[in-house]
Amino acid sequence: MIISIASGKGGTGKTTVATNLAVSIESGVQLLDCDVEEPNSHLFIKPSIEGTRIITTPVPEVNKQKCTLCGKCADICQFKAIVVIADTVLTFPEMCHSCGGCMEVCPEQAITETKRELGVIENGHRNALEFVHGRLRIGEAMSPPLIKKVREYTRADMLTIIDAPPGTSCPVIASMKNADFILLVTEPTPFGLNDLKLAVGAVRILGIPCGMVINRSDTGNDQVRQYAEKEKLPILMEIPFERRIAEAYSRGEMIVELYPEWKEKFRDMYNRIEESLQI
Ligand code: SF4
Ligand code: SF4
Repeated sequence: MIISIASGKGGTGKTTVATNLAVSIESGVQLLDCDVEEPNSHLFIKPSIEGTRIITTPVPEVNKQKCTLCGKCADICQFKAIVVIADTVLTFPEMCHSCGGCMEVCPEQAITETKRELGVIENGHRNALEFVHGRLRIGEAMSPPLIKKVREYTRADMLTIIDAPPGTSCPVIASMKNADFILLVTEPTPFGLNDLKLAVGAVRILGIPCGMVINRSDTGNDQVRQYAEKEKLPILMEIPFERRIAEAYSRGEMIVELYPEWKEKFRDMYNRIEESLQI
Protein backbone atom coordinates (compact mmCIF):
# COMPACT_ATOMS: atom_id res chain seq x y z
CA MET A 1 0.00 0.00 0.00
CA ILE A 2 1.17 3.51 -0.81
CA ILE A 3 0.01 6.41 1.38
CA SER A 4 0.96 9.85 0.15
CA ILE A 5 0.97 12.67 2.72
CA ALA A 6 0.22 16.01 1.07
CA SER A 7 -0.96 19.51 1.89
CA GLY A 8 -2.09 22.47 -0.13
CA LYS A 9 0.54 24.67 1.46
CA GLY A 10 3.80 24.39 3.37
CA GLY A 11 4.11 24.56 7.12
CA THR A 12 0.96 22.59 7.95
CA GLY A 13 2.75 19.68 9.63
CA LYS A 14 2.91 17.30 6.66
CA THR A 15 6.39 16.06 7.55
CA THR A 16 5.38 15.63 11.21
CA VAL A 17 2.55 13.34 10.11
CA ALA A 18 4.64 11.41 7.56
CA THR A 19 7.58 10.75 9.89
CA ASN A 20 5.52 9.92 12.98
CA LEU A 21 3.24 7.61 11.00
CA ALA A 22 6.25 5.79 9.52
CA VAL A 23 7.92 5.33 12.92
CA SER A 24 4.67 4.18 14.55
CA ILE A 25 4.20 1.24 12.16
CA GLU A 26 7.63 -0.17 13.19
CA SER A 27 8.13 -2.91 10.58
CA GLY A 28 7.56 -3.48 6.87
CA VAL A 29 7.51 0.26 6.15
CA GLN A 30 9.51 2.65 4.03
CA LEU A 31 9.43 6.44 3.95
CA LEU A 32 10.12 8.22 0.67
CA ASP A 33 10.68 11.94 1.08
CA CYS A 34 9.63 13.33 -2.32
CA ASP A 35 9.73 16.96 -1.18
CA VAL A 36 12.98 17.15 -3.14
CA GLU A 37 13.26 20.95 -3.15
CA GLU A 38 13.32 21.02 0.62
CA PRO A 39 13.55 17.51 2.08
CA ASN A 40 13.41 17.58 5.87
CA SER A 41 12.08 14.18 6.97
CA HIS A 42 15.69 13.13 7.63
CA LEU A 43 15.97 15.78 10.35
CA PHE A 44 13.44 13.77 12.39
CA ILE A 45 14.16 10.24 11.17
CA LYS A 46 17.94 10.68 11.48
CA PRO A 47 18.64 7.66 9.25
CA SER A 48 22.03 6.08 8.75
CA ILE A 49 22.72 6.84 5.07
CA GLU A 50 23.98 3.78 3.24
CA GLY A 51 23.87 4.88 -0.40
CA THR A 52 24.11 8.04 -2.52
CA ARG A 53 23.28 8.21 -6.24
CA ILE A 54 23.68 11.17 -8.56
CA ILE A 55 20.65 11.40 -10.85
CA THR A 56 21.04 12.88 -14.31
CA THR A 57 18.82 13.45 -17.31
CA PRO A 58 19.91 13.30 -20.98
CA VAL A 59 20.25 16.60 -22.86
CA PRO A 60 21.49 17.24 -26.42
CA GLU A 61 24.98 18.17 -27.51
CA VAL A 62 25.51 19.35 -31.09
CA ASN A 63 28.51 18.43 -33.22
CA LYS A 64 28.97 21.69 -35.11
CA GLN A 65 31.14 20.03 -37.76
CA LYS A 66 28.25 17.80 -38.80
CA CYS A 67 25.42 20.36 -38.39
CA THR A 68 24.03 21.94 -41.58
CA LEU A 69 21.83 24.44 -39.70
CA CYS A 70 18.68 22.92 -41.22
CA GLY A 71 16.63 23.94 -38.15
CA LYS A 72 14.68 20.68 -37.78
CA CYS A 73 15.77 20.25 -34.16
CA ALA A 74 14.59 23.77 -33.25
CA ASP A 75 11.26 23.18 -35.03
CA ILE A 76 10.43 20.07 -33.00
CA CYS A 77 11.52 21.38 -29.60
CA GLN A 78 8.47 22.67 -27.73
CA PHE A 79 10.60 24.12 -24.96
CA LYS A 80 12.98 26.34 -26.95
CA ALA A 81 15.85 24.33 -25.51
CA ILE A 82 17.61 24.15 -28.86
CA VAL A 83 17.59 27.03 -31.34
CA VAL A 84 19.32 27.95 -34.58
CA ILE A 85 20.54 31.54 -34.57
CA ALA A 86 22.43 32.95 -37.57
CA ASP A 87 25.21 30.45 -38.24
CA THR A 88 25.10 28.44 -35.02
CA VAL A 89 22.94 26.05 -32.96
CA LEU A 90 22.53 26.90 -29.30
CA THR A 91 21.32 24.50 -26.62
CA PHE A 92 19.80 25.48 -23.25
CA PRO A 93 20.15 22.35 -21.12
CA GLU A 94 18.19 23.80 -18.17
CA MET A 95 15.10 24.10 -20.38
CA CYS A 96 15.40 20.63 -21.92
CA HIS A 97 12.72 18.07 -21.00
CA SER A 98 14.82 15.16 -22.32
CA CYS A 99 12.20 14.02 -24.84
CA GLY A 100 14.86 13.04 -27.38
CA GLY A 101 12.90 14.61 -30.26
CA CYS A 102 15.79 16.70 -31.59
CA MET A 103 18.08 13.67 -31.78
CA GLU A 104 15.41 11.72 -33.66
CA VAL A 105 14.83 14.35 -36.35
CA CYS A 106 18.41 15.47 -37.00
CA PRO A 107 19.17 14.31 -40.56
CA GLU A 108 22.94 14.56 -39.99
CA GLN A 109 23.10 12.61 -36.71
CA ALA A 110 24.81 15.70 -35.39
CA ILE A 111 23.16 15.50 -31.95
CA THR A 112 24.37 13.19 -29.21
CA GLU A 113 23.42 12.86 -25.54
CA THR A 114 25.18 14.51 -22.69
CA LYS A 115 23.91 14.78 -19.10
CA ARG A 116 22.44 17.38 -16.82
CA GLU A 117 22.53 16.65 -13.09
CA LEU A 118 19.09 16.73 -11.45
CA GLY A 119 20.18 16.03 -7.90
CA VAL A 120 21.03 13.14 -5.61
CA ILE A 121 19.13 10.32 -3.97
CA GLU A 122 20.22 9.07 -0.57
CA ASN A 123 18.90 5.95 1.07
CA GLY A 124 19.38 4.28 4.40
CA HIS A 125 17.63 2.99 7.52
CA ARG A 126 16.46 3.93 10.95
CA ASN A 127 16.20 0.53 12.63
CA ALA A 128 13.78 -1.45 10.42
CA LEU A 129 12.41 1.67 8.70
CA GLU A 130 13.70 2.05 5.16
CA PHE A 131 14.37 5.67 4.21
CA VAL A 132 14.88 7.33 0.82
CA HIS A 133 14.99 10.99 -0.10
CA GLY A 134 15.89 13.10 -3.11
CA ARG A 135 17.72 16.41 -3.00
CA LEU A 136 17.28 18.62 -6.05
CA ARG A 137 20.46 20.31 -7.30
CA ILE A 138 20.50 24.01 -6.42
CA GLY A 139 19.43 25.88 -9.54
CA GLU A 140 17.60 22.88 -11.06
CA ALA A 141 14.05 23.85 -12.02
CA MET A 142 12.50 20.46 -12.80
CA SER A 143 11.74 18.31 -9.79
CA PRO A 144 9.26 15.71 -11.20
CA PRO A 145 11.98 13.58 -12.92
CA LEU A 146 13.86 13.32 -9.60
CA ILE A 147 10.64 12.56 -7.72
CA LYS A 148 9.93 9.73 -10.18
CA LYS A 149 13.41 8.33 -9.47
CA VAL A 150 12.77 8.45 -5.71
CA ARG A 151 9.48 6.63 -6.29
CA GLU A 152 11.30 3.86 -8.14
CA TYR A 153 12.48 2.77 -4.67
CA THR A 154 8.87 1.80 -3.85
CA ARG A 155 8.74 -1.79 -2.67
CA ALA A 156 5.65 -3.87 -3.32
CA ASP A 157 6.22 -5.90 -0.14
CA MET A 158 6.16 -2.85 2.15
CA LEU A 159 3.90 -0.05 3.26
CA THR A 160 5.23 3.02 1.44
CA ILE A 161 4.70 6.43 3.02
CA ILE A 162 5.43 9.37 0.76
CA ASP A 163 6.15 12.85 2.09
CA ALA A 164 4.92 14.91 -0.88
CA PRO A 165 5.93 18.49 -1.67
CA PRO A 166 3.43 21.22 -0.69
CA GLY A 167 1.09 22.80 -3.23
CA THR A 168 -0.93 21.38 -6.11
CA SER A 169 1.41 21.60 -9.10
CA CYS A 170 3.34 18.96 -11.11
CA PRO A 171 5.73 17.85 -8.29
CA VAL A 172 2.76 17.12 -6.01
CA ILE A 173 0.95 15.18 -8.72
CA ALA A 174 4.15 13.18 -9.34
CA SER A 175 4.18 12.34 -5.61
CA MET A 176 0.48 11.42 -5.37
CA LYS A 177 -0.04 9.52 -8.65
CA ASN A 178 -0.75 5.79 -8.20
CA ALA A 179 -0.99 6.12 -4.41
CA ASP A 180 -3.68 4.02 -2.73
CA PHE A 181 -4.60 6.72 -0.25
CA ILE A 182 -3.84 10.41 0.18
CA LEU A 183 -3.70 11.98 3.58
CA LEU A 184 -4.18 15.75 3.40
CA VAL A 185 -2.74 17.71 6.29
CA THR A 186 -4.34 21.07 6.94
CA GLU A 187 -4.98 23.63 9.65
CA PRO A 188 -8.26 25.27 10.63
CA THR A 189 -7.60 28.73 9.21
CA PRO A 190 -8.92 30.55 6.13
CA PHE A 191 -5.55 29.97 4.38
CA GLY A 192 -5.66 26.30 5.36
CA LEU A 193 -9.19 25.94 3.98
CA ASN A 194 -8.35 27.69 0.72
CA ASP A 195 -5.33 25.47 0.06
CA LEU A 196 -7.17 22.36 1.22
CA LYS A 197 -9.85 23.00 -1.42
CA LEU A 198 -7.17 23.20 -4.12
CA ALA A 199 -5.53 20.00 -2.87
CA VAL A 200 -8.87 18.15 -2.74
CA GLY A 201 -9.53 19.28 -6.33
CA ALA A 202 -6.23 17.71 -7.45
CA VAL A 203 -6.88 14.49 -5.52
CA ARG A 204 -10.39 14.17 -7.01
CA ILE A 205 -8.93 14.46 -10.53
CA LEU A 206 -6.59 11.59 -9.71
CA GLY A 207 -9.54 9.61 -8.30
CA ILE A 208 -7.66 8.45 -5.18
CA PRO A 209 -9.41 7.97 -1.81
CA CYS A 210 -8.36 10.56 0.74
CA GLY A 211 -8.76 11.64 4.35
CA MET A 212 -7.62 14.56 6.47
CA VAL A 213 -5.46 15.39 9.44
CA ILE A 214 -6.14 18.73 11.13
CA ASN A 215 -3.03 20.13 12.73
CA ARG A 216 -3.18 22.82 15.43
CA SER A 217 -6.80 21.72 15.59
CA ASP A 218 -7.75 23.82 18.62
CA THR A 219 -6.87 27.09 16.90
CA GLY A 220 -8.67 28.96 14.09
CA ASN A 221 -12.29 28.30 13.25
CA ASP A 222 -14.66 25.50 12.27
CA GLN A 223 -14.82 26.06 8.52
CA VAL A 224 -12.37 23.26 7.66
CA ARG A 225 -14.55 20.76 9.57
CA GLN A 226 -17.70 22.05 7.87
CA TYR A 227 -15.99 21.67 4.50
CA ALA A 228 -14.88 18.13 5.39
CA GLU A 229 -18.46 17.21 6.30
CA LYS A 230 -19.86 18.71 3.12
CA GLU A 231 -17.28 16.94 0.96
CA LYS A 232 -17.55 13.68 2.94
CA LEU A 233 -13.84 13.76 3.77
CA PRO A 234 -13.05 11.69 6.88
CA ILE A 235 -11.07 13.54 9.56
CA LEU A 236 -8.68 10.79 10.67
CA MET A 237 -6.72 12.70 13.28
CA GLU A 238 -6.61 16.04 15.04
CA ILE A 239 -3.36 17.31 16.52
CA PRO A 240 -3.92 20.13 19.02
CA PHE A 241 -1.56 23.06 19.40
CA GLU A 242 0.41 21.90 22.43
CA ARG A 243 3.58 23.50 23.66
CA ARG A 244 5.25 20.12 24.27
CA ILE A 245 4.53 19.04 20.65
CA ALA A 246 5.87 22.32 19.23
CA GLU A 247 8.99 22.02 21.40
CA ALA A 248 9.60 18.42 20.29
CA TYR A 249 9.28 19.53 16.66
CA SER A 250 11.71 22.40 17.13
CA ARG A 251 14.27 19.99 18.60
CA GLY A 252 13.82 17.55 15.68
CA GLU A 253 12.29 14.90 17.96
CA MET A 254 9.51 12.45 17.19
CA ILE A 255 6.22 12.97 19.05
CA VAL A 256 5.51 9.23 19.02
CA GLU A 257 8.77 8.47 20.78
CA LEU A 258 8.38 11.10 23.47
CA TYR A 259 4.68 10.51 24.07
CA PRO A 260 3.63 6.87 23.54
CA GLU A 261 -0.09 7.75 23.49
CA TRP A 262 0.58 9.42 20.13
CA LYS A 263 2.03 6.20 18.75
CA GLU A 264 -1.33 4.56 19.42
CA LYS A 265 -3.15 7.44 17.72
CA PHE A 266 -0.99 7.16 14.60
CA ARG A 267 -1.44 3.39 14.52
CA ASP A 268 -5.21 3.79 14.89
CA MET A 269 -5.18 6.22 11.98
CA TYR A 270 -3.28 3.72 9.85
CA ASN A 271 -5.76 0.96 10.78
CA ARG A 272 -8.67 3.21 9.78
CA ILE A 273 -7.03 3.89 6.41
CA GLU A 274 -6.43 0.18 5.86
CA GLU A 275 -10.01 -0.67 6.81
CA SER A 276 -11.45 2.02 4.55
CA LEU A 277 -9.58 0.56 1.57
CA GLN A 278 -10.89 -2.94 2.25
CA ILE A 279 -14.55 -1.97 2.15
S1 SF4 B 1 15.51 16.57 -25.99
FE1 SF4 B 1 13.45 17.39 -26.41
S2 SF4 B 1 13.24 19.08 -24.96
FE2 SF4 B 1 15.41 18.62 -25.06
S3 SF4 B 1 16.21 19.99 -26.61
FE3 SF4 B 1 15.71 18.06 -27.65
S4 SF4 B 1 13.61 18.36 -28.41
FE4 SF4 B 1 14.00 19.97 -26.89
S1 SF4 C 1 18.64 19.11 -36.91
FE1 SF4 C 1 20.82 18.56 -36.84
S2 SF4 C 1 21.66 19.40 -38.68
FE2 SF4 C 1 19.70 20.40 -38.41
S3 SF4 C 1 20.17 22.27 -37.25
FE3 SF4 C 1 19.69 20.71 -35.76
S4 SF4 C 1 21.68 19.83 -35.20
FE4 SF4 C 1 21.97 20.93 -37.13
